[in-house]
Amino acid sequence: MNSSLYLHIPFCAAKCNYCSFNSYAGLDDLHDRYVRAMCVELLQGVPGGGQGRLDTVFLGGGTPTVLSASQLTQILSVCCSAFSISPDVEISIEANPGTVDRDKLTALFRSGVNRLSIGVQSFNDRELRAIGRIHTAVEAIKAVEMAQAAGFSNLSVDLMYGLPGQSTESWKRSLETAMSLGLKHISIYNLTVEERTPFEKMVREGRLQLPGDEDVEIMDGITAEYIAAAGFEQYEISNYAKVGYQSRHNITYWENRDYFGFGAGAVSCLNGSRRRNTENPKEYCHLVEGEKSVVIEEETLEDEASFRETVIMGLRMNRGVSLCMLKRRYGISIEKYYGEILQQLIVSGMLEEVADFLRLTDKGRPFANRVMAELV
Ligand code: SF4
Repeated sequence: MNSSLYLHIPFCAAKCNYCSFNSYAGLDDLHDRYVRAMCVELLQGVPGGGQGRLDTVFLGGGTPTVLSASQLTQILSVCCSAFSISPDVEISIEANPGTVDRDKLTALFRSGVNRLSIGVQSFNDRELRAIGRIHTAVEAIKAVEMAQAAGFSNLSVDLMYGLPGQSTESWKRSLETAMSLGLKHISIYNLTVEERTPFEKMVREGRLQLPGDEDVEIMDGITAEYIAAAGFEQYEISNYAKVGYQSRHNITYWENRDYFGFGAGAVSCLNGSRRRNTENPKEYCHLVEGEKSVVIEEETLEDEASFRETVIMGLRMNRGVSLCMLKRRYGISIEKYYGEILQQLIVSGMLEEVADFLRLTDKGRPFANRVMAELV
């Protein structure tokens, strides 16, 4: 059976003001130990998970590229020993400007990494400083150019809008710069203020000025216009790709298919069971070294809960969720299951059935969260 694998590297050069991910700055002394522990966990595999054949591998974080090229290639080479790898495997890595150079990128490309996702967020230095990024716009452009020179053609950048002090004009300029870089994929997120982040504290204290709803709406419109003009197609709420460059790994999540997860805080979802590793990287190393389980939570998903999750996740994609797949996988008819609620969402123009797929309409997409809340 083909599957996907996620490897979590929980280290960053500095913690960004908006970040609620399981990531830590200032743990450089732990890197070597963590890489060793992750290799041990990989070789042990997931009990009951089989070892499958990997179609996609994703090194995410955190910032995986704070590790050295040799640490990263060591992890990848252990993956190849622990799993069989599909000949056309997609191997992605998240990278941040300021943590890559030409040599590291070349080593990664030569070791089989064939997709790079660069966390740029903005091409405006003032905005980058406001959100706590360690890099400048020039360094971000240089990171993209170095990646291209190292051989990467499947390149993505992450951008954010709704940033402190951001104007609609500066958002336009960030998009223009992104569009000029020859990218194949862009992920675009509206800043959300998450709990337990410096931004949450600043909002509470009245020290954070964010663009108003009206400006954010204009930025949404600008995004749609620039993305379409540059030949990108939206295929998920926050993701846009040139033809043939959709993230296969992320589609695994949106189709709610099985995946392995290794590292601190990583989740595995296999055969109807979901397990989560301890989040704390020191604790993770300690447990692996003591030959103890790193799993802190395990749940078996009931068919109906899994069905609903598959519907919600599938609706994130523009093509929607396959009705035949739902029937085959769960033996449940979506029309019968949701009855009146589904009919209302279709009649009100939020959802539509096109061929085998149920999907959000153009009218429904801006209200995706509200629609999903009805179906959850
Ligand atoms: S680089 Fe990414 S993971 Fe690290 S602190 Fe910033 S947003 Fe979080």
